[in-house]
Amino acid sequence: MLDRLPGFNRGPHRINADLHCHSVVSDGTLSPTDIVERAHRNGVEILALTDHDEVGGLAAAQSRAMQLGMAFVPGVEVSVTWGGETIHVVGLRIDFRDPSLLAGLLRTRSGRDGRAQEIADQLAAAGIPDAYEGALRYAGNPELISRSHFARYIVETGTCEDVSEVFRRFLVEGRPGYVPHRWATLGEAVAWIRAAGGTAVMAHPGRYRLSDMCMEQMLDEFRDAGGEAIEVVSGSHTPDQYAEWAAVAQRYGLAASRGSDFHGPGESRHDLGSLPPLHKQLRPVWQDWPEALALERR
Ligand code: AMP
Ligand code: MN
Ligand code: MN
Ligand code: MN
Repeated sequence: MLDRLPGFNRGPHRINADLHCHSVVSDGTLSPTDIVERAHRNGVEILALTDHDEVGGLAAAQSRAMQLGMAFVPGVEVSVTWGGETIHVVGLRIDFRDPSLLAGLLRTRSGRDGRAQEIADQLAAAGIPDAYEGALRYAGNPELISRSHFARYIVETGTCEDVSEVFRRFLVEGRPGYVPHRWATLGEAVAWIRAAGGTAVMAHPGRYRLSDMCMEQMLDEFRDAGGEAIEVVSGSHTPDQYAEWAAVAQRYGLAASRGSDFHGPGESRHDLGSLPPLHKQLRPVWQDWPEALALERR
């Protein structure tokens, strides 16, 4: 009864925001406009497209979202090397024409091709030939050739059943096809996002293999650099991790974000807009955004 009263079940926590996903512009399998249409069908109310190190899909996505009347937030997911580990920083509400952001992303992308050649050499030695050409066929954007594209090719060869199996047997530390790479620094990624007027969000913290002490140090550095939020409800987290990272968000005074990290149907566990809402005690990163305030006024 109560939950049927107008407004009772609303509030910023109830907004279906999905602020992390990928298109063919990086390692997703759908076009930017297909992503927007799927999100809209799934009931997403605020969508951010966050391709890896690339903003090339944002203009098309933004105009399709406008046609559909869905709030759209330009985003990006920047690859960072911190303490020898790869971590990801999502930028939200960025001006995707900002020159310092564009220059930084271009530099971050530039090492991918050489790395891909080395990955292919290792895979050839492990009995999987022609992987560079094979991966490139899956890459919508050759500048963004990534381990995901290699994973899809390895599945195609029949060596593994699915992409998860690939990421257990290949492409990860200690396995064939792992090539350590130096991405942007944490300070650079946050600075580029902020220079472009955006909000820096620590992506899927539950995925990083850092000791508790290193994680604390990394989050301190992130916050000191101007990082403002952390993903809590993420397609890359297990439900147990939602609670764990909610507590961390509160402890660090960081706003909380929610994102499926959708890469494509059949590949991602969670579809666009399908995750549970953020915990009530958290401050959603979108709370004060005009896009959210407009939804609240309905
Ligand atoms: P790269 O930026 O080339 O190192 O590729 C990283 C991408 O690989 C991530 O953005 C994910 O899309 C994908 N990936 C990494 N680990 C896994 C995993 N365990 N299962 C599925 N996809 C993964
Ligand atoms: Mn990816
Ligand atoms: Mn990521
Ligand atoms: Mn992602």
